[in-house]
Amino acid sequence: MRQFLLLFFLLIGFTSNINCQETKPEKLKKIVIDPGHGGDKPGAQGKISLEKDINLAVSLKLGQLLNQHLSSVEVIYTRKTDHDVDLIRRSQLANRERADLFISIHCNASKNHDACGTETFVMGLAKTQANIEAAKKENADILMEANYGEKYDGFDPNSPESNIFFSFYQNAYLEQSLTLAAKLQDQFTSNIKLLNRGVKQAPYLVLYKTSVPSILTEIGFISNPKEERYLNSQLGQYEIAASIFLAIKQYKNFLEGVNQPLPTMESLIPEEVIKQEKIAKENERKARELAHKLKESMLLENLSSHSDTVKSEVIYRVQFHTDTTKYSTESKKFEPLEDIWMYNDNGLWKYTAGSFKDFHQANQYRHKIRTKGYKDAFVVIFNNNQRISLEKAKEIESKIK
Ligand SMILES: [Zn+2]
Repeated sequence: MRQFLLLFFLLIGFTSNINCQETKPEKLKKIVIDPGHGGDKPGAQGKISLEKDINLAVSLKLGQLLNQHLSSVEVIYTRKTDHDVDLIRRSQLANRERADLFISIHCNASKNHDACGTETFVMGLAKTQANIEAAKKENADILMEANYGEKYDGFDPNSPESNIFFSFYQNAYLEQSLTLAAKLQDQFTSNIKLLNRGVKQAPYLVLYKTSVPSILTEIGFISNPKEERYLNSQLGQYEIAASIFLAIKQYKNFLEGVNQPLPTMESLIPEEVIKQEKIAKENERKARELAHKLKESMLLENLSSHSDTVKSEVIYRVQFHTDTTKYSTESKKFEPLEDIWMYNDNGLWKYTAGSFKDFHQANQYRHKIRTKGYKDAFVVIFNNNQRISLEKAKEIESKIK
């Protein structure tokens, strides 16, 4: 019996020990995902897409990954469809829900179509004008909201003073926000081949009233044609969502002081998407190959049609008259003759008749028109409308044959 009791206590001790590890308080339980813009506020516009649609697609994929691989974390969206939500309501949702994290997802844009890469912002003092400009563009949505002055404490996205003033608002969780932002930029760098523009601070309105750790990530430039294609591809969207997921998981480990292993990037992307991407790449390769072959054959065709032109351009005519006056080829003067053509030689108009492929035919015609009164007629030869000698004509013809 004593032995049994000992075993019993040992077991209790053992299981409570496990429980002790398992019940380590989770500090990241609720995440608000905020797909930027929506509805009649499209955000930046690319050549083939709108920012609001990319933001939503990536946000939904991120939520899906969190549900699958971090199911203890509750995911709340500021929008799940293409509709507009006031900026202030997005941050209010995070506060009301007592979320542990707020992530706003956006695409960048620039007049310079070469601008590229990812960057992640936390609320704060912008160090450069470029960062203020980036925030200004995202904040401009409030201009379409009713009573924006009231809702945003008199903030005017177009006023430099306003931007500077709001820069001084700092999130109470600046430290945590910066930690997550840095982890996210690291994940972007190691997983996707976009330029790392770093972690920055700027006065983003969607961040300034959240009282939870908050970041706004710009996942690439919609204004850069190559990045826009990537941002619109299924693989691109999954790679970006998976990078954000991995950063959140790392951040969760950091907050909770645990070291749970991270899944691999590949395990986070559906096999079907990878398969489709391979097929798309293969098709692209085939299309390039076909285009190359087509170009080559067109080149050959051009060459052969070019030799046809050279061939047809050796033309034999019969010259029958020289004059200082230019007559119309339709002139009655030439009535019994055919195919009248003239050329100017040192200010004199020289008139020819007939158009033949070889000397023999032209010579026969010469005999024929001599009987019609043109006794001095003789054969002339042309190539590209230039008179050439019989030797030159033979040389060209031998090259063609
Ligand atoms: Zn945006």
